Amino acid sequence: MSDQFRTPSFVDRHIGPDAHAVATLLGTIGVSSLDELAAKALPAGILDPLTGAGTAPGLEHLPPAATEHEALAELRALAESNTVAVSMIGQGYYDTLTPPVLRRNILENPAWYTAYTPYQPEISQGRLEALLNFQTMVSDLTGLEVANASMLDEGTAAAEAMTLMHRAVRGPSNRLVVDSDVYAQTAAVLATRAEPLGIEIVTADLRHGLPDGDFFGVIVQLPGAGGAITDWSELVTQAHDRGALIAVGADLLALTLIAPPGEIGADVAFGTTQRFGVPMGFGGPHAGYLAVHSKHARQLPGRLVGVSVDADGAAAFRLALQTREQHIRRDKATSNICTAQVLLAVMAAMYASYHGADGLRAIALRVHAQASALAAGLSGAGIEVVHPSFFDTVLARVPGRASEVRAAAKERGINVWLVDDDHISVSCDEATTDGHVADVLAAFSAEPTVGGDVTAASIVTRISEFLTHPAFTRYRTETEMMRYLRALADKDIALDRSMIPLGSCTMKLNAAAEMEPITWPEFARQHPFAPASDTPGIRRLIADLQGWLTGITGYDEISLQPNAGSQGEYAGLLAIRAYHAARGDTDRTVCLIPASAHGTNAASAAMVGMQVVVVACRANGDVDLDDLRAKVTEHAERLAALMITYPSTHGVYEHDIAEICAAVHDAGGQVYVDGANLNALVGLARPGRFGGDVSHLNLHKTFCIPHGGGGPGVGPVAVRSHLAPYLPGHPLADELSDEHTVSAAPYGSASILPITWAYIRMMGAQGLRSASLVAIASANYIARRLDEYYPVLYTGENGMVAHECILDLRAITKATGVTVDDVAKRLADYGFHAPTMSFPVAGTLMVEPTESESLAEVDAFCEAMIAIRGEIDKVGSGMWSVDDNPLRGAPHTAESLLVEDWHHPYTREQAAYPLGKGFRPKVWPPVRRIDGAYGDRNLVCSCPPVEAFA
Ligand SMILES: *Cc1c(COP(=O)(O)O)cnc(C)c1O
Repeated sequence: MSDQFRTPSFVDRHIGPDAHAVATLLGTIGVSSLDELAAKALPAGILDPLTGAGTAPGLEHLPPAATEHEALAELRALAESNTVAVSMIGQGYYDTLTPPVLRRNILENPAWYTAYTPYQPEISQGRLEALLNFQTMVSDLTGLEVANASMLDEGTAAAEAMTLMHRAVRGPSNRLVVDSDVYAQTAAVLATRAEPLGIEIVTADLRHGLPDGDFFGVIVQLPGAGGAITDWSELVTQAHDRGALIAVGADLLALTLIAPPGEIGADVAFGTTQRFGVPMGFGGPHAGYLAVHSKHARQLPGRLVGVSVDADGAAAFRLALQTREQHIRRDKATSNICTAQVLLAVMAAMYASYHGADGLRAIALRVHAQASALAAGLSGAGIEVVHPSFFDTVLARVPGRASEVRAAAKERGINVWLVDDDHISVSCDEATTDGHVADVLAAFSAEPTVGGDVTAASIVTRISEFLTHPAFTRYRTETEMMRYLRALADKDIALDRSMIPLGSCTMKLNAAAEMEPITWPEFARQHPFAPASDTPGIRRLIADLQGWLTGITGYDEISLQPNAGSQGEYAGLLAIRAYHAARGDTDRTVCLIPASAHGTNAASAAMVGMQVVVVACRANGDVDLDDLRAKVTEHAERLAALMITYPSTHGVYEHDIAEICAAVHDAGGQVYVDGANLNALVGLARPGRFGGDVSHLNLHKTFCIPHGGGGPGVGPVAVRSHLAPYLPGHPLADELSDEHTVSAAPYGSASILPITWAYIRMMGAQGLRSASLVAIASANYIARRLDEYYPVLYTGENGMVAHECILDLRAITKATGVTVDDVAKRLADYGFHAPTMSFPVAGTLMVEPTESESLAEVDAFCEAMIAIRGEIDKVGSGMWSVDDNPLRGAPHTAESLLVEDWHHPYTREQAAYPLGKGFRPKVWPPVRRIDGAYGDRNLVCSCPPVEAFA
């Protein structure tokens, strides 16, 4: 059809700069086309030539770009080929009724889902408050003082509990005792994580006490996988008597009724918050949780929100104790977790706020009453109920009949759990109806007994109060909740207000069309262990994605199981380790990592038992080839791998990448290419073809899954064929191996995969390549525009950067005393989110615009940065003192300006509207500069009393 009828394509909507703007970008850079830019920026040895058909190699099989409506129609068809059965499978995943006010105002609201990890706390107070509510909720329900926010899922939370106990006990023993009634996926993740650390797992039925021998820790579950509620208090005493710690995997809904782990003396509690309003989603994403006794607070891995004070002494939130984390402690960190599950933690916390303690207890009692009715019906029909004390799950013994019962339930549209030939387990949840219970009984050929003799109250042993803070009593009507969520979101800068130029984070558009399918019940209400015949649509979608992503990266196989980039790294290194072991190369345990690497790299290497050897970087930021060769030679016999980020964390395409890979291969090592920066490679170069053996990608960076305020993410691990046998498996997925399980669910955070599917489908091969090229053009444009104000630290071939650039403020700081912190905080007064601060080089800012930002937005950012340089110069010239100037005073709250006596050398207008009122919509930060050290000294990690805000 004639071009005059053409409306903008999705590609036109996704990529910010139009043809005219791209010409401006290219003009400033001094190249005549995007292809010339690519040829100048990327080393010729790795740049893929276009195929005859004009697409990048590896993308030939992508169908032509679909429109939004076409892609949604295809997704609709995939969704409709799934069957939404009633799930009574349990095993850690339960149907839940997401309150629509939470679905619409959090899960479907870009103000929440497009935010980043709250590293700039002054403009992240909304989600930090929500996370503090999450921690308070977990702490109250588990009866333990300190909870983090947040773990990736229940299985990995169990593994973190294991390593936490190992660190805390510091004894000689490397043995962990695990009860035989934990979930199969928990046991599998524990086994994976234990082996490389030399931890020996002893599995035993602990109802009768502990086995002989030494051990550092004990893990039990409450209720057990078979549904039993066991009083573990005696076991806790036994464990402590023998010098071990004990962790309880506990169901938070059950804890509204039964004595929580903290009250029976347990040291650690872990689990999932999925059933608090977060759909099962074929396995995830959901927030796990981990809580500890206060004496272990400093051993807690991951993110911990704490309370501190701002410059005016007002209470304010920020991430606490960050010196435990991988970006500072590297291979000594408490864990490798970076991206977590913030959006889902917010959902779960708000679910608890909305229902309150009495609401949660009512839900729990109803669930228990349904299970009790089921148990009574079965007993009445002469069917043995194995555990007399249960919460929501009834384990029935049906010798030789289990398959038959499962089939009969399936005929009634209900999935139950086949334990073995003789046992069926049935779990009730918030969505269970009396009709479902009757249908299940019919499937067992048992009659429903009305008003049976099982009373709902029979298991109630909890007497302590919980969720008494106003955060859990105030927002019980929809009006109150809606306004609370709006008020919190308004405190934050997410992508719906401003570009977020965070280098290494790729904050690009998360299109509405990509987001829509994730809440469709055909995807959202799938149990991860549902029969394969229920889920052909999501499985097809997964297979499509696997094909497309291997094409894009040049690898042979890919696993979507890892729940974040860090988990992909871990899985990839495990594969390398297993490969060497299979060849008898068990001494290969050295992992070379350049000094510039992301902290997760070193932390992941430590988790697989590798020894990190740091490779130096040259003054120009590249890996020091001489040092690399020397280290390769020195460790040749023991070399397991090199982990290298490409393009580098310095935002440049290193020229010598092929040589570097070859040197490692020649010494018998494997090359891990950290693919978090794939936004600079898609359609241009393929790590699987230029020397990588394995890479992880971050679908939450390059492939449009929103950052959710700090998660969820998906970190697929892609490998060349020789590593394929060692990709993550899962004990409950027939099509996968049983080994190397790294997540609780076989396909990890499956319910957000439609986002990436839709993005790739709507961009097509050309669009994906254009996105990379425009992202590179935009970064180079910023580098050119800002270089004279803030020197660009590193450039590669022909003076080009890749998709991001590092602005060096160290000389400016030295000359004027103005720091990167000052500039980052001051940007909020201008209405912008700061770039990445002091990573990978202290005293610098790393800027990544992505392809999605329009030239107007990029220009506004440059204008703000240039104006800030003008302010810095006034400090430098002595016009403003270093302690009293708009930079040091930033960010400025409205309250701080509305004072009778203004005693600063700059005006209130300069503080609030430095580029005039017309510059861009004013963002009013809710708090002033936060004192992080104060909060670490005075650790408070649950909701402070309301008076603190007076
Ligand atoms: C973001 C990032 C990671 C970690 O990814 P997460 O999903 O946050 O765990 C690893 N390496 C690099 C270079 C990154 O930018």
